[in-house]
Amino acid sequence: MPKLTMKHLSFFLRRFLRYNAELFCLQAKMPKWSEHPDERLAQSLNDRRLAAHREILDATRDYGHLCGSCGRCCLEKVERHTDFDQFIHAGIGEPLHYFDKKILNLPVMIATSIKRTVQHLIGKEHDERKSCRYLSESGCTLTHQQRPMLCVSWFCPKYIFGLQPSSLDCLEKPLHEMRLIHHEIAEAVSSRDTAS
Ligand code: SF4
Ligand code: SF4
Repeated sequence: MPKLTMKHLSFFLRRFLRYNAELFCLQAKMPKWSEHPDERLAQSLNDRRLAAHREILDATRDYGHLCGSCGRCCLEKVERHTDFDQFIHAGIGEPLHYFDKKILNLPVMIATSIKRTVQHLIGKEHDERKSCRYLSESGCTLTHQQRPMLCVSWFCPKYIFGLQPSSLDCLEKPLHEMRLIHHEIAEAVSSRDTAS
């Protein structure tokens, strides 16, 4: 575990607490993709998403062991493709399946955390393990580029504090870009919703 620095704390506050709270609010306020399945966003948003995914992958290449020894994020039977992903994929003419299942969101994450804590306390944490539809024996079956934005831009506290400060620096630009992309999607679909 690297030495804890101010850089870790700053990253945690901005890229974990603030970023995820913002995403939650944006998603709650913006129109749902199921109400606007014909919405077509600019292709450039997807190009930027792919570039940011590549940069995040490059910056985290040496840290596979952190998630490899945990894997908790992939062990929930919920939909990781949020409305942001649905809008962006529809924009490039590659719509995702719409499963109308519960989306991974803050209430679900809190409920899961409480459930896991209780299971841990009563020694039943391995019961009823369900996993993401894309998980296989050898890990995620989606390429890094195909993965839901949430899976790519989510870094838990344990992961953040396990990164070297130089890697945090490399993540700043692509995570800032992901933040902008989420905001731009919400603005684009909200303004058209208001205009119609
Ligand atoms: S991001 Fe954190 S919680 Fe999720 S699998 Fe990796 S180490 Fe585990
Ligand atoms: S899409 Fe892949 S990375 Fe994301 S939760 Fe599912 S298995 Fe894990």
